[in-house]
Amino acid sequence: MSANRSVRAGGQIRGFYTYRYEATDTTMVSPGELRMLTELSDGEGEFTPETGPGGSIDYPTAERLLDDRDPAVVDVLERFGARGVLDGEFVSKVYSCPECSAQGMQYTTACPACESAHAIETTVVEHRACGASAPESHFEREDGHVCPECETRVREDDLERTERYVCKECNEVFETPEHRLWCRDCLYMFPPEETIERALYRYRITDDGREWAERHRLARETAADTLEERRFEVSVDTTVEGEGTTYPVHVFAKDPLLGERRVVAIAERPTGESVAAFRDLAREVDAHPIVVTTTGAVSEEVATLAESADLTLLSARPDGSLDSQYDVAEGTPRGQSLFQRLTSAMDVPAWKGQ
Ligand SMILES: [Zn+2]
Ligand SMILES: [Zn+2]
Ligand SMILES: [Zn+2]
Repeated sequence: MSANRSVRAGGQIRGFYTYRYEATDTTMVSPGELRMLTELSDGEGEFTPETGPGGSIDYPTAERLLDDRDPAVVDVLERFGARGVLDGEFVSKVYSCPECSAQGMQYTTACPACESAHAIETTVVEHRACGASAPESHFEREDGHVCPECETRVREDDLERTERYVCKECNEVFETPEHRLWCRDCLYMFPPEETIERALYRYRITDDGREWAERHRLARETAADTLEERRFEVSVDTTVEGEGTTYPVHVFAKDPLLGERRVVAIAERPTGESVAAFRDLAREVDAHPIVVTTTGAVSEEVATLAESADLTLLSARPDGSLDSQYDVAEGTPRGQSLFQRLTSAMDVPAWKGQ
């Protein structure tokens, strides 16, 4: 490992890195999400929406790269779209059921009187003389037309034909039907404005997104290399077994002699909630948690968590090197005193203090 990839501590870091993206979402990047972005970054590909069984919207190529524990693929893509990592090109819209959330609702016209969808566009005939109007079939006799209302024999000139909807449930005749979307799953119908509208996009990675993916991959690689140098057996983009749950992790490291274990999470600006969840995961898999922030900035809440003994927080510099300093919100840089903690997180106890 070259010198500039080594783990550093101390020194002024404030302002060393310019945050490039709107922090619309600041949860950790999951191994599956990084896999997905790497795939786009390395190739010329794009993720195209497809309509799946039951009208659901799938991105099969992206979905294949995510893990079961990741959020829904559409949500993941939207999140990275919102922060400029992905560029979404509008394709179309889909509507989801407000009752059961099923996607791919179907358009139908409906009767304004009884709400039945069984309202059929029909040629309606009006007898000008008496004003009666009815479907053409009601006028038809074997030898011509008879008004069903006044029972007069009528000629073609006495009749006016118009297109109308006729409800087969309640016999209502109307010119303009109601617009409804019906759910194929729960069979409820809703006015379109009451359903959940979602725009579909075709996603490509942006130039900023390529940098984003590269920076996060580099941070992970450096964490793995650093642990490997400290005699850990290291697996990258792997899974660890918890109590009945398999967790995808960026890095899992195990000291073959002493059994010490480490797990690594990567985040731009980790939220307190995501850090606490990762700490719980680490506890469950009996490993020490290391959180690498690629912006070098964390909230007060995260800093407090990191200052507890059971979590290590590191900053990844743009060149990929790791640093035990990080910025806290608008405040002053913190973490100078973390050198010992960094050392103990990356080392096995036998090397501590050397
Ligand atoms: Zn009706
Ligand atoms: Zn008539
Ligand atoms: Zn439904």
